Order: sequence, then structure tokens, then C-alpha cells
Amino acid sequence: MKIIKTIAAVKKETRKLKGKTFGFVPTMGCLHQGHLSLMEQSLRENDVTVVSIFVNPTQFAPNEDLDSYPRDLKKDEKSLKELGVDILFFPDVKEIYPGGYSTYVQVEELYKVLCGKSRPTHFRGVTTVVLKLFNIVAPDNAYFGSKDAQQAVIIKKMALDLNLDVTIKALPIVRDTDGLALSSRNTYLSGPQREAALCLPKALRKAEELIAAGLEDAAQIKTEIVKELQQSKLVEIDYVEIVSLNSLKTYERSEGTMDIDVNNTLVAAAVKLGKTRLIDNFILGEI
Ligand code: AMP
Repeated sequence: MKIIKTIAAVKKETRKLKGKTFGFVPTMGCLHQGHLSLMEQSLRENDVTVVSIFVNPTQFAPNEDLDSYPRDLKKDEKSLKELGVDILFFPDVKEIYPGGYSTYVQVEELYKVLCGKSRPTHFRGVTTVVLKLFNIVAPDNAYFGSKDAQQAVIIKKMALDLNLDVTIKALPIVRDTDGLALSSRNTYLSGPQREAALCLPKALRKAEELIAAGLEDAAQIKTEIVKELQQSKLVEIDYVEIVSLNSLKTYERSEGTMDIDVNNTLVAAAVKLGKTRLIDNFILGEI
């Protein structure tokens, strides 16, 4: 595996391999099986797989965990080598945002809802860095996790709106054996918090079962999820939202019903345990 730190060297390397298909997996490192599942898919579908590890400062607000975000490059390098990844791009912040940097990309409307309500500058940082990385790597296919469903929807819209020559693929959430979605931020949780966090996947699973049994009213589904999340005193609800998958619009009450489209719906929740914010969701349909 080639480990590359500069944009010029990645461009040189990828352009040298012109004619081959490129898969790309952007990450912030501290890799777990959720990340690795994206790389495995890329390795299956492309000649060359490029992974980036970059803890992107523009997607963190000043009060968030940029400085304490978990980093473990040695372990990540080992996992990537074992998997057979071809190129690891691991730039410094100055390489991506040199002094005087001033251009940002924002997908209107979609950035404001769900996680965007409590993180209003987050998706602008994500789309900016992802577009820059796409321009640097020039991938044919790019792989994202449905764990960050809003992110995948927004990036897909950016690729469409800006006519990018990349296919965005959203892959399923990888969970721990107890059901908690894998996340680099799970390392922040204390024992009791980890235990309490399980109410998040549990609440969503219950909602999924209710929908499978025929419940379609968005308000009722939301009530059931909130009820389940309120079981734990350690859990503070940030949001529970049921939205149309591609527009991220909430269901409006019309003629007394708020029935969901069972082929195009995102049921998403975010909770806080102490300072740690966790997200989870399930999708009816495809991003
Ligand atoms: P991050 O390093 O958190 O920015 O994540 C990099 C990519 O891995 C994103 O596309 C995430 O959605 C994806 N990802 C993170 N956790 C999971 C998970 N548990 N299952 C599937 N994909 C994930």
C-alpha cells in the first residue's frame, strides 16, 4: 500500500493508473468494521481502491470534539494493508486548507434539517472536503455508510447537481453484536453510557417492526421511538425524525393522516449521552 501525504503525489499516482477503475472511501480514521465494509465493497468493484484519512476541521463547530477525535494511524495502516487497499491518502490540514483558503460548497435545504439543526455548519464542511477529495482522487465510485444517511443523501445530491463523474454508493450500517451501530465516537462512552446507548437501536428496531406490522402514521411511529428512548435517564434526545428519503422533508399531515411511503423513508434519531452524540437510523428504500 502506498501512503501519500500530498495532493500532487496522489494526482500523479492516480493519473498514472488511467484506464483503471477507481474506488474511493473517505474517512476520518480510527477505522472499524463499518469503514472496512465500504473498502471491501470498493475492492470487489474496482481495480484500484483509495482510502483517505483526514479529520476535517471544517465539519466540526468550535464547541465540538475536533481535538479529542480518536486517532490511531498505526492500527489503521495495518487494517488497510491487510485488506489490500492500494493507496492511503493521509494529508495534513495545511495541505487541504492552505492559508487563505476561502471556497465552500453547500447543498441548500438538505444541510439544514436533521443533524443540521444542531450542527448548522457541519454539512458545508463535509461537502467541501468531499468535493475536494473527489477532485484530487478522481474516483469512478465512492462509498459511504448509511449510518450517516443524511450525509450520503447530500453527497449524492451534490454529485448530481455539479455533474460529477462519480457514482455514489451507500452501504448498510454495520453494528456491534449488541446492535449498537459502530462509530469511532463509541470509544467516548463509559460502561453505563454504552449500556444506555442500546436503547437507540432498540427503539429503531421496534419502530421497524411496527411498520412491518402495518403501522404507517409518521407521528405514531415517532411517538413509539421517543417513548423507548425516554426509558433511559442517561439519554438525552436530540431529534427523532421521519422524513422522505431523498428530499429529507418531514411528512405533512393531510386529510388526517401522515402515512409514510414505505419505499422512500428515512427514520433517523440522534441522542446525547453526556457529551457524546450518537446517531442511528433505518431506511425504507434506497439512497
Ligand atoms: P467517518 O470516519 O466517521 O467520517 O466515516 C467514514 C465513512 O464510514 C462514512 O461514509 C460513514 O458513513 C461510514 N461509516 C461509519 N460508521 C459506519 C457503520 N457503522 N456502518 C457503515 N458505515 C459506517
